[in-house]
Amino acid sequence: MPITVPSILDAQRSGVEDGRIRPGTSKPSTNPNAKPGTRVPVRLQKWRLTSSNQKAIEAVATRFGGTPQPWAESRRGTQWEVITETNRLPIFIPPAVALDQWMELWSGGKCLRRCEGGPGAVNTRNRRPCECPSDDAERIALAKQNPPAACKTMSRFRVRLLDVPGIGFWRVECGGFHGAVEMKATVDTLAALAGQGRHVAAFLRLDWRTEPGKQYVVPTIEVPETERQILAQTATLNEIAAGHSSLGMPTARPQITAGPATAPIPAPAAPPPADSADPEQVTAQVRQIAAELRAVALTDRDAGTRIRAIGNEAHRRGLLDEYIPDTDPATTVRDTVLDLIAAVAAGHKDGSE
Ligand SMILES: [Zn+2]
Repeated sequence: MPITVPSILDAQRSGVEDGRIRPGTSKPSTNPNAKPGTRVPVRLQKWRLTSSNQKAIEAVATRFGGTPQPWAESRRGTQWEVITETNRLPIFIPPAVALDQWMELWSGGKCLRRCEGGPGAVNTRNRRPCECPSDDAERIALAKQNPPAACKTMSRFRVRLLDVPGIGFWRVECGGFHGAVEMKATVDTLAALAGQGRHVAAFLRLDWRTEPGKQYVVPTIEVPETERQILAQTATLNEIAAGHSSLGMPTARPQITAGPATAPIPAPAAPPPADSADPEQVTAQVRQIAAELRAVALTDRDAGTRIRAIGNEAHRRGLLDEYIPDTDPATTVRDTVLDLIAAVAAGHKDGSE
């Protein structure tokens, strides 16, 4: 069996995720002919977040509203979910992130078809020509059936959510034509800027639109800064990487600008308490973590995995948001982990593979 590239990519992506950001949920089907247990998708007015990390979902609920609860219907092991009270989440687009778009057909939680669309498209699930009709109107009609009978657009990309326990990477998943078209240029641009160290504060918004006879939801990315403000930030990832190679730690950080002060978001959740209340012990533990991070050679094949393991351990011990002693400007463990992951990702992207 050949190894299909999308499956490797999926595995790599899910390995660096804290959870997923979704514009919808599901409910039991009311169709009397449907098989028992069949669920149908429901579009939401507010963002829904799911994760295997209960603490992360609780922090999301504290910050963005909603009631955290176990996600009973999940097919991915024990998962938690919260339907927030906001349609506007503050995010950063990490470097080296691309909007990953496919035409897909899902049934019972399984992806049956994944193709690039258009005539001659190959279903990457079985390496055969996709069974969808080549006529687009016909395909759209089949895709709208319940359950769907043809592929439809699915877009995915990763964002950073700050002030939520974990490494900070969440995957946005959304179907639909408009979102796919409108977000591509923005995601590509913000990821390219982040690759140069220009981290742009943005908002992920669920935009409900009404046209005669129909109402639909489009996920969009809002960038409050002007291009001139974005370009005024000068620190680049290369400059940070140069700091890593000489001192082992970043000597300069890109200035991360806060978004505009928008009212409805309550204060951030408090980070988990550190293992030990003794400040000297905490400092010693943070020094140890910083030393472990420094010891990782960024060019090693498993560098990303090791950095994430150290980051997860720091999170478990409540040390992710502690400042590393003797860093100037003051840098937290979380910032360093994210910088290192970004540097590793950028290195892999530049590599010949
Ligand atoms: Zn297809």
